[in-house]
Amino acid sequence: MTSSRNISIAAHIIPESGLTLQTPLWQQALSEAFTRPKALLDYLGIEQDSIPVESSAEFSMRVPRGFADLMRRGDPGDPLLRQVLPLQSESVHVQGFSRNPVGDLEAHAVTGLLHKYHGRALLITTGACAIHCRYCFRRHYPYENASATPRQWEALLAYLREHPTINEVILSGGDPLMLDDEKLGRWMQQLSEIPHLQRLRLHSRLPVVLPERITPELLTHLRKNHLKSVLVIHANHPRELSCRVTGKLKALQKAGVLLLNQSVLLRGVNDQTAVLVELSERLFEAGVMPYYLHLLDRVEGAAHFEVEQARIHSLYSGLLSQLPGYMVPKLVRETAGEASKRPEGFDLSEQKPHCIT
Ligand SMILES: *Cc1c(COP(=O)(O)O)cnc(C)c1O
Ligand code: SF4
Repeated sequence: MTSSRNISIAAHIIPESGLTLQTPLWQQALSEAFTRPKALLDYLGIEQDSIPVESSAEFSMRVPRGFADLMRRGDPGDPLLRQVLPLQSESVHVQGFSRNPVGDLEAHAVTGLLHKYHGRALLITTGACAIHCRYCFRRHYPYENASATPRQWEALLAYLREHPTINEVILSGGDPLMLDDEKLGRWMQQLSEIPHLQRLRLHSRLPVVLPERITPELLTHLRKNHLKSVLVIHANHPRELSCRVTGKLKALQKAGVLLLNQSVLLRGVNDQTAVLVELSERLFEAGVMPYYLHLLDRVEGAAHFEVEQARIHSLYSGLLSQLPGYMVPKLVRETAGEASKRPEGFDLSEQKPHCIT
């Protein structure tokens, strides 16, 4: 996750001379993202007084224009807007909400690599994201100390080579698709040379919030790589799946990528059975299997997104009764020190966590 003091994405990837013809479209779109709440509200025709906005949030605002175009004009309660608009309530301290709710700060095996679960290693490839989701547990994550520099990348590869039980690498972040095609292609190639690796997974919100990112070059890298590739996208509301997005998803599928989706259950965004049912239906239509429905990580600043326990259960019962089983995402919670994400309603306290650090 980036924060205002951290990285200005545009400044990093656009040469000082301004945009050149070589600047990929997606990087250009990124440089045009909304970063000031007032500009976004003006664009949507919403009075700033109608909503308690925080205009100097510690975790800055970032909203690609294409995503803003899917919001309803004039509606301060729009579920897409709610995910990204900094509110004053973020600065209210709420008991039980902390800065490191899932214990990731303690779990680094080597810098930039999390090996919490058996067989899978998660790599923090970059701290940057194309959109800043207000509920994100990474909003307080000190990425400047935790992302892989070229030298650290060598150390990550060495770690992976030395651990033959790891058969799946997850590129995460931030958002791994913020890396350019050349770098990503090089990394994918190096990973595919590790003999015990079988699967390459990417966790990315870019296919949804910046579909321009799915370039022909990226599709080629994915098609050519002999590791089985899995892309876990992140959509929370059916309206995020525009036809531009679903077109790119189809192209990814054609390139042999297995597509999954993870969502976060968020008050005022998708805490209605009908919305979640429609989301699953639309995902399936686009060739994406619903994977996880995460309960909110109790991260400081996100308390206004929490859904009450009783409501969670009635929502999920609704999904179970209205959808075919294969379209129901697993309802999970991440708890520090456990061996897997925890299916809600199960007690995993007897399970021995897999943690080798
Ligand atoms: C979520 C997560 C994974 C992947 O878990 P799955 O249940 O396989 O999706 C792997 N490593 C870390 C550190 C994670 O947080
Ligand atoms: S939820 Fe994903 S895309 Fe959104 S800010 Fe967090 S890491 Fe970035």
